[in-house]
Amino acid sequence: MNFSTPIEEIPRVGPAYQKKLKKLGIKTVHDLLYHFPHRYEDFSNLIPIAKAEHGGPFCFQGEILDIRNIRTFRRRMMLTQMTIGDETGKLKALWFNQPYLINAFKKGEHVCLAGKISGKGSAKYLSSPAYEKIPAFAKATAGEPENFNNDLTHTGRLIPVYPETEGLSSKWLRFIVKPILIKLRGQILEPLPEKIINEYGFLPFQEAIWQIHFPESLKTAQIAKKRFAFEELFILSLFVQRERMKLAREKAIPVPLNLELVKEFTGKLPFELTDAQRKSAWQILKDMEKPRPMNRLLEGDVGSGKTVVAAIAALNAAKANYQTAIMAPTEILSKQHYKTISNLLERFSLKIGLITGKESYLEGEKTSRKELLEKVKNGQVDILIGTHAIIQDTNPRTKYKTPVQFNSLAFVIIDEQHRFGVEQRANLCQQKKFVPHLLSMTATPIPRTLALTVYGDLDLSLIDESPKGRKKIITEIVQPKDKKETYDFIRGQVKEGRQVFVICPRIEPSARTEFGKGQGFLLVDERNFSWMEVKAVKEEYQKLSKEIFPDLKVAMLHGKMKVEEKEKAMKDFKNKKVDILVSTSVIEVGIDVPNATVMLIEGSEKFGLAQLHQFRGRVGRSDFQSYCFLFTESRSSGAKVEKRTKSSLTTESRLRDESKNIRSFPPRAIAWVAKEENLFSSPTNAPGIITNRRLRALISCENGFELAEKDLAIRGPGDFLGSRQWGIPDLTMASLADAFSVEKARSEAKEILQEDHELKKYPLLKKRLEEFKKRIHLE
Ligand code: ADP
Ligand code: MG
Repeated sequence: MNFSTPIEEIPRVGPAYQKKLKKLGIKTVHDLLYHFPHRYEDFSNLIPIAKAEHGGPFCFQGEILDIRNIRTFRRRMMLTQMTIGDETGKLKALWFNQPYLINAFKKGEHVCLAGKISGKGSAKYLSSPAYEKIPAFAKATAGEPENFNNDLTHTGRLIPVYPETEGLSSKWLRFIVKPILIKLRGQILEPLPEKIINEYGFLPFQEAIWQIHFPESLKTAQIAKKRFAFEELFILSLFVQRERMKLAREKAIPVPLNLELVKEFTGKLPFELTDAQRKSAWQILKDMEKPRPMNRLLEGDVGSGKTVVAAIAALNAAKANYQTAIMAPTEILSKQHYKTISNLLERFSLKIGLITGKESYLEGEKTSRKELLEKVKNGQVDILIGTHAIIQDTNPRTKYKTPVQFNSLAFVIIDEQHRFGVEQRANLCQQKKFVPHLLSMTATPIPRTLALTVYGDLDLSLIDESPKGRKKIITEIVQPKDKKETYDFIRGQVKEGRQVFVICPRIEPSARTEFGKGQGFLLVDERNFSWMEVKAVKEEYQKLSKEIFPDLKVAMLHGKMKVEEKEKAMKDFKNKKVDILVSTSVIEVGIDVPNATVMLIEGSEKFGLAQLHQFRGRVGRSDFQSYCFLFTESRSSGAKVEKRTKSSLTTESRLRDESKNIRSFPPRAIAWVAKEENLFSSPTNAPGIITNRRLRALISCENGFELAEKDLAIRGPGDFLGSRQWGIPDLTMASLADAFSVEKARSEAKEILQEDHELKKYPLLKKRLEEFKKRIHLE
């Protein structure tokens, strides 16, 4: 057995467990060992039975004197009662509704039990303790601390608690992981350069991997964790820097800057460009003049005017006889780009095409897919707009067998997809000699530390001011009791001819949280998740259209609708046939509807500040005064969610307990700070609930970047990057919020690559890097 042994070959891991492990992304021994505990249960307080007192947790070792199942008649519950004894006394342990436990133990065997003591005096008992059998010991010496059995896995020590999925318990993981650690002891080599280990005083790998799973103390666990957090950040940094170096060696077509043309374009715009737009456009045009591929991220709030900036660069390329591809995540957005860009560039007689799953357009006219693609290939189309899937498709299993072939593609613009591999880009060019310049646009304001690490291979242009004359959007937090008043106000807006967006509460898939149903936590797997969102939208739609606004036209939009249905809903809204559009949070609302002046967000506590800010940006695009209402309850998403809110008290106090253990880990410390701010956020970065105090930040702050920095501190980076899609390990995600480590990992990665960019001296590191590359999805 070694690091790359597949889980199928690990003893005692049968097919059912293999499947469950894969659901967590665990395919090899390496993955399993890097599936780190996210907290520890402290069962190390091993005491003689006589010392048992209310509270705990405590841990006891003794002989089983009696075990039996008892049915409680009143509550129809099955109790399993065990009595254990040591030299100092006897103690009862009770388990509820686990009658099968009786088969696991025999009288006379020895066990170690760990848990809390309930009741007082002679009625004391251990409540549902963790258990583990231990070898028999002589009764005469039992209860003497020096004679305690210390070779324990599930009790009598700090117990690792892993992020779990249903059916894959921490106990089982401990049961599998410990023998592997023992087996591999002394066999796994250190991947990190010695210099780094010494410089930062990290635990060497051998020691660290043991201490992170089965620590001697919380302190050693913490030291081990620090090392792995650094290791993963370091590998991420190596990856990003290598991509950057790779790109620097590629050639691109230099696109000369035609200043007259640019001036002509901007001079005839119906508005004046903001300074930020000017500066960004200039950076882009200058980059494109170079024979090296541009790799630039254009960040700006919704409505800050990124499209115009992109259009300038595309125009400049087209007039130099080069083609531009513009990709958007969805058909609706592709279409919108097509219209906007066609309008903006109308006077320049360019050939602009649109390709979607079912239709193709050229110069505003419908055309066949075949004809359009033919013209793109012959260079008769200057700008081609479409979804990512269609333009870059190289996957033989999907509908569109060949990627679009261009004649002289020099420039690629992608909307809301940040990373785009060098190979993917090269594939778009017919002659693989050149890599096109890349401009990636995003309305997600990514905090700077994050951008530097995760997108360290991208240069950044920021549009951090909004166009002149925009009215401030009035933002209000609406308590449940004030809902009616708000609905009346909205009706008034509609009567004046305005339109309304309603966003339904987010439902978070929490397959990776370890809170079971018992804690009242929702367990939704990824598949059910989108259906639950649909359900929420349908309920909200019913409520609004039947009860609250029966006199108005309400429509809904969600991810499970057919493309045509979605398009129709969007079109109707744009054409004012619909007054109120109810949609999920996941569906793109990137559409431009200037007549919409109200954004109503249900269950707003469930969203991050940056995301709320983005929703808000959908309104306020005209001369009319716009409003954003933050509703603060989760009624519309069904009873289950309510249940969770109610029971969050117990969960919260539980979290507080945990935080004692985790307080000193930097990333967790941040989670703790968030909790102190009365924020509910679980250690796995699961859904956070923001209190009104948080929401108030949104009222006072209009700058997306400031809100993003706040969000990063509160919620961790998952929200910005979407950890699920990315495949970045959880620990890395969490450590990204730790600016110090991030900076160190970056500079160390740079240094090592400068002296040895093929990593010849570090074969293990190189291997890790290759595995990382495979794991990380380039979306
Ligand atoms: P983004 O893509 O960044 O969300 P858009 O490019 O769609 O924003 O621009 C939003 C709206 O603002 C468009 O209607 C656009 O014409 C307009 N706009 C862009 N720049 C300016 C400006 N400098 N002044 C006034 N309006 C602008
Ligand atoms: Mg846009």
